[in-house]
Amino acid sequence: MAVSYVPATFEEAVRIRRETGAVPVAGGTDLMVRYRSPAGTLPDFPWPVMFISGLKEMKGLFLEGVELVIKAGTELAVIEHSEIVHPVLREAVRQMAAPALRNLGTLSGNICNASPAGDAVCVLYALGAEVELTSSSRMRRMPIEHFITGPGRTVLKGDELMTAVRIPLHSESASFYRKVGTRKANALSKLSCTGFITVTENRIADMRLALGAVGPVVVRSAELESQCIGMDLNHFRNYKPDLRKQFAERVKPIDDQRSTAEYRKETTLNLIDEFFMLIEKELS
Ligand SMILES: Cc1cc2nc3c(=O)[nH]c(=O)nc-3n(C[C@H](O)[C@H](O)[C@H](O)COP(=O)(O)OP(=O)(O)OC[C@H]3O[C@@H](n4cnc5c(N)ncnc54)[C@H](O)[C@@H]3O)c2cc1C
Repeated sequence: MAVSYVPATFEEAVRIRRETGAVPVAGGTDLMVRYRSPAGTLPDFPWPVMFISGLKEMKGLFLEGVELVIKAGTELAVIEHSEIVHPVLREAVRQMAAPALRNLGTLSGNICNASPAGDAVCVLYALGAEVELTSSSRMRRMPIEHFITGPGRTVLKGDELMTAVRIPLHSESASFYRKVGTRKANALSKLSCTGFITVTENRIADMRLALGAVGPVVVRSAELESQCIGMDLNHFRNYKPDLRKQFAERVKPIDDQRSTAEYRKETTLNLIDEFFMLIEKELS
């Protein structure tokens, strides 16, 4: 049976992490399932674990300058019901799992799990979120796309904890969010799509598109997005087929137990078309 720690303070948590490398368990809704044992017995973790859900210092969300700060231990249910959270992130969280799980699960758990199908992760890519990582000796922050390096892989070091997610405040002209799963509730995504469009004087001032579960990490292309800046309706209409083709080249899904690569690709391209229609509407 693996050793487990239950720190009483954040200071104690970073010390335990530094000294033992114990794996943090926040809500446990990913970890407990992955390492589950036969019914009625405790999960069988292959390494020491540290339960961090009781740490008050890691909970809460607030506005700071031009950012929303969500502390790492804040439960999904709190995020879902907070009026200072971007409506698209609230909607994505609302569609995750089921209410009982959202009372336990955290946004940081969704990020650190690093699944390309993490629903909140797709929205956080589009919002340009950054993560904050803290050890007993340093603190660093980085864009979410630098933190996640592959399926189940991140740059989190053995002595670090994620302490916060920082999201720039965003006021787009229109937004687009779709999750495609087997059913409406309690289903992991087959794929997801988040889009934001900002139009100023009938031209695109900002455009963002993030695609979940169609590659090893969430797909977002700063290069393609920036090509659209400044376009008016006619220009965008002419460029649209080429843009669609270039996004299609970046969409490289796989077959797995939830869906086929073919379905994922076709449906993602349909959602991109829907998002492009929204852009045209905003430009006209
Ligand atoms: C029935 C069911 C349905 C689900 N439905 C969805 C869904 O619809 N969409 C979806 O995206 N996910 C879904 N999930 C997955 C899961 O609920 C989410 O990913 C959730 O956000 C995980 O958060 P957690 O706090 O429970 O993570 P945990 O299981 O506690 O941890 C997950 C990973 O994050 C690490 N971690 C957690 N906190 C920190 C920290 N502060 N610092 C460093 N590392 C940390 C852990 O070490 C672990 O590697 C579902 C799970 C279940 C069981």
